[in-house]
Amino acid sequence: MTRRQLLQRSGWGLGALVAGSGLHSLSGRIRTNEIFNDLSTLEAVSPVSVTTASGLRIHGIQTGWIAIKSAHYKMTGIESLRFPAIIADLNWTRPKPMLSWLIEHPEGLIVVDSGERAGARDLTRYLACADAGSQFFITRNFRVQIEPDWELGAQMQRLGLSTRDVRWVVQTHLHFDHANGFAFFPKSQILISRAEYEGHRQMPLGAVSCLYPITFDPRPLDYLERDFGVFPAHFPLTKAEDIAIVPTPGHSYGHQSLVIEDEQRRYLLAGDLTFDERQLRQRELGGIVWDVPKSRESLERARGFVQSTPTVYLPSHDPESLSRLARGQITTL
Ligand SMILES: [Zn+2]
Repeated sequence: MTRRQLLQRSGWGLGALVAGSGLHSLSGRIRTNEIFNDLSTLEAVSPVSVTTASGLRIHGIQTGWIAIKSAHYKMTGIESLRFPAIIADLNWTRPKPMLSWLIEHPEGLIVVDSGERAGARDLTRYLACADAGSQFFITRNFRVQIEPDWELGAQMQRLGLSTRDVRWVVQTHLHFDHANGFAFFPKSQILISRAEYEGHRQMPLGAVSCLYPITFDPRPLDYLERDFGVFPAHFPLTKAEDIAIVPTPGHSYGHQSLVIEDEQRRYLLAGDLTFDERQLRQRELGGIVWDVPKSRESLERARGFVQSTPTVYLPSHDPESLSRLARGQITTL
């Protein structure tokens, strides 16, 4: 059996296969990265659906796989040189999931992150309409795998839910790997923080607005200057006051997260606040962050939140997020 066939069959076992094959030796390093660079053999992952104690249904939906550079995943070296460090890095991370979330709430369906489209498999062609800076940075530093039937619209249909019934699309941020599925939701209110919306309009930095549909008409969100636990402001999304949007800037201009409150625990849908739970535990910043001090502050607030109340912490690219959701696993620091 060829390595490619093995990978096709392995799916989640990819890391174990590589770890067990002796490719961690120095001579195998380039071969390892060639594998992580080619995501075409990766398979679909089924959604995870849970019902909370108060009766809300939460679906975790993986719309694709993404590989990034090691220097993108983790901040190392000189902070001010973090972007050149990513471009110069030859090492790719293992493929990570791209997750969106869907909440069935009595007040309406809520999507968190509209997700990327299958066109992103061929980034050069996909970004033909984008500015030169985005073309340069994204095509060199990302690898994406999405099949058309992995897109959020198709997966919602398989769950028996219509994209036309979605009341709110809450965008954690506008980076391309979280957005571009806006066309699925022409009737929904799209909620983006004002800082995120206005920042990206001035300087795109990872957002590709030429891919948005002509119906794209988001509502820039201004938070209430009322604290929400450790967060200094928030936006109460539902009248029931069981879902709130909180500012978690730093990764991008105005990154935001969503909190679901339940009788037993809270769920923090954290976008790219950190790339995974381990980074939250170890206070490790990603290498791509736009604003380092704000990113540190958001990370500390998220830690304070998790320490103050039983929380299921769910970042968008954590390979363990779906299993944590399925088990209702509380994050301990
Ligand atoms: Zn991301």
